[in-house]
Amino acid sequence: MVNSHESFLRAQVAIPGGVNSPVRAFGSVGGVPRFITDAYGPYIKDNEGKEYVDLVCTWGPSLLGHAPAEVIEAVRESATHGLSFGAPTDRETDLANAISTRVPVAEQVRLVSTGTEATMTAIRLARGITKRDVIIKFAGCYHGHSDALLAAAGSGVATQGLPGSAGVPVSTAADTIVLPYNDADALREAFVLRGEEIAAVITEASPANMGIVPPINDFNQVIREETKRAGALMIMDEVLTGFRCSSAGFWGFETGYAENNHIAKMPDTALFDQAARHAWRGAELAGLAYTPDIITFGKVVGGGMPLAALGASAEIMAHLAPLGSVYQAGTLSGNPLATAAGLKTLELATESVYERINTVSNILVNTLSEELTKASLPFVINRASNLFSLFFGENPAKTGVANYDQSQSQNTAAYTTFFHAMLDAGVSLPPSCFESWFVSAAHDDSAVNRIIEAIPQAIQDVVASLPAK
Ligand SMILES: *Cc1c(COP(=O)(O)O)cnc(C)c1O
Repeated sequence: MVNSHESFLRAQVAIPGGVNSPVRAFGSVGGVPRFITDAYGPYIKDNEGKEYVDLVCTWGPSLLGHAPAEVIEAVRESATHGLSFGAPTDRETDLANAISTRVPVAEQVRLVSTGTEATMTAIRLARGITKRDVIIKFAGCYHGHSDALLAAAGSGVATQGLPGSAGVPVSTAADTIVLPYNDADALREAFVLRGEEIAAVITEASPANMGIVPPINDFNQVIREETKRAGALMIMDEVLTGFRCSSAGFWGFETGYAENNHIAKMPDTALFDQAARHAWRGAELAGLAYTPDIITFGKVVGGGMPLAALGASAEIMAHLAPLGSVYQAGTLSGNPLATAAGLKTLELATESVYERINTVSNILVNTLSEELTKASLPFVINRASNLFSLFFGENPAKTGVANYDQSQSQNTAAYTTFFHAMLDAGVSLPPSCFESWFVSAAHDDSAVNRIIEAIPQAIQDVVASLPAK
């Protein structure tokens, strides 16, 4: 195809909406999505040959930047040995260990192919263990597109302005209690009313699918206390934040685990002896502010390949088939190419990678704040470690953004104008104001400067688009 316009027309005939995941369609910002042919370092290139500095980073996975040579080589090497075996491989164990050493919450790990599967399995596991049906989720949190978790979800659901989804049985939705995020009183009340029915509370470690909305007033700890008291499980969804907000995800960032113990060394005995591994985990987690029961990963953990995971104590994980009665399976689970990409990505995610990402994030947040302030535009920028997002509008500026209602009060039209001005200038932002911005360690000074240079004009476009006062 010669241009994105033609590609989109063609795609819409063959594929519903022309895309295989809704937000890609530019529904909320309008216009034509760019059809991409190449991604390298901090850049993507469309089929017209135009290059963009990428602040979507394939929605998170490209922590190291696009197509890092060593990851590509690992995948290439793996491919020469066969694409899929449907039988166990040593690399699956190596990746499980790489996850456990970074996030000891995950004493054992089950590899799956998508974040949706990881959270869906976590829910089934919690229900199977507790023999209860009800789950609590928070409005604006996105946990993938399984039936039980689509109620009041963020991400594409937020973008489309749908309450949930058609096709989800009323009975399924009835077992999902949706509460406002960061509202400890609402959570406590739900446990008072229905505590004995609740199997689990699932939460994004720091919500990032209604824009960035970090936990305040130790909200994660409140969730931990309430679930523990009621005999329910706490499921922390780190599909987006895992291995991105720190080597130990947002959990590691918030509890300080990642800072004190960048990547813990598991003793060799723990590689063969479950009791030794359990003791090691206990020592690693001792004294931390909170430990979730089940933790889910995706995005970065696959390094751009279809791979996700869930982890928990060996005791919890023993409920999964083939050991236990909670069924879960996958033809392509632990796929050799995907584990090659994931393992190499985690290996390369050193402290200096996180330092660079933090630096870039700081520069962009500071520049945006200065320029928006200079232009007297009302805004809020929320941050969760190196993740951030920008909310335009009087309402967010007045109240801050601590929940989904406040996120929805933003001026979406201002973001649309800003988005297109940046895109025209060669900077690809998330095509929705309900998504996080992502940077990578490959965002060098030259890429960062291209972003910085594009910002003032984009802000002027927003100013010009506002109704005169
Ligand atoms: C992306 C995401 C998911 C779903 O992952 P998929 O791989 O798209 O199925 C689940 N939870 C969170 C927090 C996410 O950001």
